[in-house]
Amino acid sequence: MNKKQNETASELKLPAFKNERIFPGCDDPKVKQAFPRAIAAVRKKLGKSYALYIGGKDVVTDEVIDSINPANPDEVVGRVCQAGTKEVEDALIAAQNALPSWRDTPPGKRAEYLVKAAAIARERIYEFSAWQVLEEGKQWAQAYNDLAEGIDFLDYYAREMIRFGQPQDMGSYAGEINQYFYQPKGIAAVIAPWNFPFAISCGMCAAAIVTGNCVVFKPSNQSPVVGHHLVELFSEVGLPAGVFNYTPGRGSVIGDFLVDSPKVSIIAFTGSMEVGLRIIERAGRTPENQPCVKKVVCEMGGKNVMIIDEDADIDKAIPAVLYSAFGYQGQKCSACSRLIVLDKIYDEFVPRLVEAARKLKIGPAEDPENYMGAVIDQAAVKKILEYIELAAKEGTIALRASVPQKGYYVPLTIVEGITPEDRLAQEEVFGPLLAVMRARDFDQAIEWANSTRFALTGGVFSRNREHLERCRREFRVGNLYLNRGCVGALVKIQPFGGFKMSGVGTKAGGPDYLLHFMDPRSLTEQP
Ligand code: NAP
Repeated sequence: MNKKQNETASELKLPAFKNERIFPGCDDPKVKQAFPRAIAAVRKKLGKSYALYIGGKDVVTDEVIDSINPANPDEVVGRVCQAGTKEVEDALIAAQNALPSWRDTPPGKRAEYLVKAAAIARERIYEFSAWQVLEEGKQWAQAYNDLAEGIDFLDYYAREMIRFGQPQDMGSYAGEINQYFYQPKGIAAVIAPWNFPFAISCGMCAAAIVTGNCVVFKPSNQSPVVGHHLVELFSEVGLPAGVFNYTPGRGSVIGDFLVDSPKVSIIAFTGSMEVGLRIIERAGRTPENQPCVKKVVCEMGGKNVMIIDEDADIDKAIPAVLYSAFGYQGQKCSACSRLIVLDKIYDEFVPRLVEAARKLKIGPAEDPENYMGAVIDQAAVKKILEYIELAAKEGTIALRASVPQKGYYVPLTIVEGITPEDRLAQEEVFGPLLAVMRARDFDQAIEWANSTRFALTGGVFSRNREHLERCRREFRVGNLYLNRGCVGALVKIQPFGGFKMSGVGTKAGGPDYLLHFMDPRSLTEQP
């Protein structure tokens, strides 16, 4: 840790972190004007080609995929070049070449790049959101809030790096001076899902970059155009060549290669349990030419649950359950997919919930009248429909909404009569299917809530203080919400992430997140 590095970490003075304002509402005058305008402008740019970005240069490949609008599969959002293993290797070499100088760039300077990128994303928030509406089928609010979260990650991690960039004085012994400080791990492979295509990608990349690592970023092949927004941001702020590399490609073609590479020191992954566990297993193998043990930051799926206690405020609980279960078509890692309703309130609550759900409009996300839109692709349609068939066998269908013919729609579905032994109570269904369970009493509700392999989010509606306190102790999930829905965590104030099969216990947007990307060092000097 040289003197210059210390000085620059402390020299950058930033105001205290403040969360970006979340979506102001479809009726907000600015929103009403800006969203349709942004969608129309983006629509004129559809079908463009996107190159890879390696060592600060665009790289064109022969293989290209079409990224399409799930609400209208005839509409090609972008044509995206595909990285093969050669391009991934080139990106790793570019990252390796950039590492010595980036590692020694003062933390405050690295943080400055993030703050600048946040400012640009804020300027372009409607435009970037519009791309998500068309590429991912996100409603206005969902797209806007994804951008707001990404901006928060940039701003928050910049401030966090200034905090960690200061060496800590550990006290003196026998006249010696002792310091504690951090260095980056090296090259980070960032592997992202499509459902928060800006926020999660941006958060993982920003954390790796600001801590001094160089990044090879593989977006999901369902959101590569939004993934390219990071190329735009990071090149516009002048991030040195090779610090951030963009290599879209099929997970099945380049995933193992990237994960297995001895050049990689840390893998930041968010996605399904199946892929996450595979990555953890492969990253544990250490060939002779690998200089370090790989670290895996791994955020995985959920089987999230809300409990409706017998004295719950029904008027408040119904919209919260609907939004948690069916917002963005239930395609959130945090989405509520099990609803445990206490026997005493069940016959009043569930029919009202079903009636409210029946009224929700379903259609293209770009029309703000629609509450729910299309799911991400044809494979998702097939998988969710299989689960809806299973629902009819394991329980009783209370609602199966009708949906538009064209586009990747699946019916919003509510199924009753599910118990913990059912597959529907155990397996993650990434779509708008809510399994309702009738619990005898609060003991059983808590037991059922904790009865899956996952532990990501949970919620409870209750007016009983003792029950709420009990949930705090016994309802074991990464993010627990009392008397509100179980989605929509905010950076810094609600650090997000789960444990058990939902993750390795890391919290995105939390006070210890950056530490995963660094190795601590201790220094002792005799005067
Ligand atoms: P996914 O299928 O696991 O894919 C995630 C990423 O891994 C994609 O970029 C994918 O590439 C890549 N991949 C696929 N096979 C790979 C391999 N063998 N090696 C390395 N990478 C590989 O998940 P998804 O469908 O994108 O996202 C939905 C899942 O993510 C859900 O389970 C959800 O709960 C979870 N999620 C969790 C959180 C959280 O914070 N805990 C947040 C969001 C989402 P391709 O796109 O090319 O397949």
